[in-house]
Amino acid sequence: MTTTTSYVIALGSNRRGRHGNPEREIRAALALLKPVAVSPILATRPLGPSRRRFANAAAIIETGDDPPTLLVRLKAIERAFGRRRGQSWAARVIDLDIILWSGGAWSGPQLTVPHPHFRTRDFVLTPLLAITPGWRDPISGLSVRHLAARLRRPQ
Ligand code: AMP
Repeated sequence: MTTTTSYVIALGSNRRGRHGNPEREIRAALALLKPVAVSPILATRPLGPSRRRFANAAAIIETGDDPPTLLVRLKAIERAFGRRRGQSWAARVIDLDIILWSGGAWSGPQLTVPHPHFRTRDFVLTPLLAITPGWRDPISGLSVRHLAARLRRPQ
């Protein structure tokens, strides 16, 4: 028997690739991931020194893969789309992150789930809100809806 696991994946792009502009790159990556739910694609301002605009989205996928196996698959898609390694803030055709999974928390040498920075990134929480507002972060115990409201509250 194979057990199916649900994952929330964040997608980002800020460079044209062979599929076209960032939004088209995200649509092409989504076609490979075969998601069961997809957020709208957002155009967002860049974070860090890059001056390019980002397109961001989130998706829910169901798979028998454990988190490290899924990460290998996501990295293969990033490579195939033309992302170069070691350029975290540079232009990238596609960036795929594992944000949450139905198994709770995962910590390994290559991978931390929930993604360590997702609670403070509006460009991740906004798409998540559209597809899975009630999903609870196993670390803070807060729902996506609550995390997004907390981030948007004036300090
Ligand atoms: P970045 O280029 O900033 O997206 O970082 C990619 C690297 O972060 C990957 O090679 C992973 O080994 C590592 N990583 C750690 N946690 C995660 C996660 N939740 N999702 C994706 N990559 C992760």
